[in-house]
Amino acid sequence: MSQPTGNIFIVVAPSGAGKTSLVAALLAAEPTVELSISYSTRPPRTGEVDGKHYHFVDQAVFKSMIDRGDFLEHAEVYGNYYGTSAPWIRSRLDVGQDILLEIDWQGAEQVRKTFPDAIGIFIAPPSIEELERRLRGRATDSEEVIRRRLASARAEIDKIAEYDYIVVNDDFERARLDLISIVRANRLRSAIQCRKLATMLARMGQGG
Ligand code: GDP
Ligand code: ADP
Ligand code: 5GP
Repeated sequence: MSQPTGNIFIVVAPSGAGKTSLVAALLAAEPTVELSISYSTRPPRTGEVDGKHYHFVDQAVFKSMIDRGDFLEHAEVYGNYYGTSAPWIRSRLDVGQDILLEIDWQGAEQVRKTFPDAIGIFIAPPSIEELERRLRGRATDSEEVIRRRLASARAEIDKIAEYDYIVVNDDFERARLDLISIVRANRLRSAIQCRKLATMLARMGQGG
């Protein structure tokens, strides 16, 4: 797969760290970044809309998609299956679109095998205690689900050094600005700019 000028941002966080809230705030500030809508076998939470938050599918559909090779990556996370659509990613990269994947650490490892230039961003909570408070405060998950998600958090944080950037979501506004800064800085990298601005740079080089 070619990657003309688009960046792939991969945002990973322990559940409850604020990934969904921060990504929503980033997309509001940077509307040209497009969010990949994952496929999931998890039941929708109250307020979640099919096709907007996830493409909600049952296990049989998910398995047939795996067999057809429809996923760039897929993983079992907290007992449900999640996957990223390969055709969608390909179509966006082909036109140079910046895209953002909100996926788990296993998915991030798989994507980076295909796209080594993908930019890994880890959102860390300020503490495990605060993570637990947020998961309970969100009130979207059962006690068993919350316990399972907290147990995974420590293992996820152990892999933090594998990411290009770490954003601590303590003060939300500060974390939001950190995330926006990462996106903007990566768009300005010379390798990207040279491809995007090729015509303009060639004209300036000719004194035109
Ligand atoms: P979810 O993905 O469905 O859990 O939705 P979000 O996590 O994006 O948002 C859940 C609620 O938390 C919304 O009512 C947000 O406005 C609110 N919220 C988002 N960020 C913050 C924050 O930094 N502090 C507080 N106190 N509330 C927030
Ligand atoms: P994730 O997508 O990582 O599971 P969410 O975005 O759903 O996390 O956030 C989990 C909960 O924590 C939500 O109720 C959200 O409103 C809250 N939250 C997010 N960021 C902060 C923050 N900086 N301070 C306090 N609460 C936060
Ligand atoms: P939630 O159920 O809270 O929405 O998400 C649970 C976990 O699954 C999060 O860590 C989230 O990043 C991850 N996830 C969401 N979509 C995908 C996906 O397409 N692929 C992978 N590998 N993980 C995903």
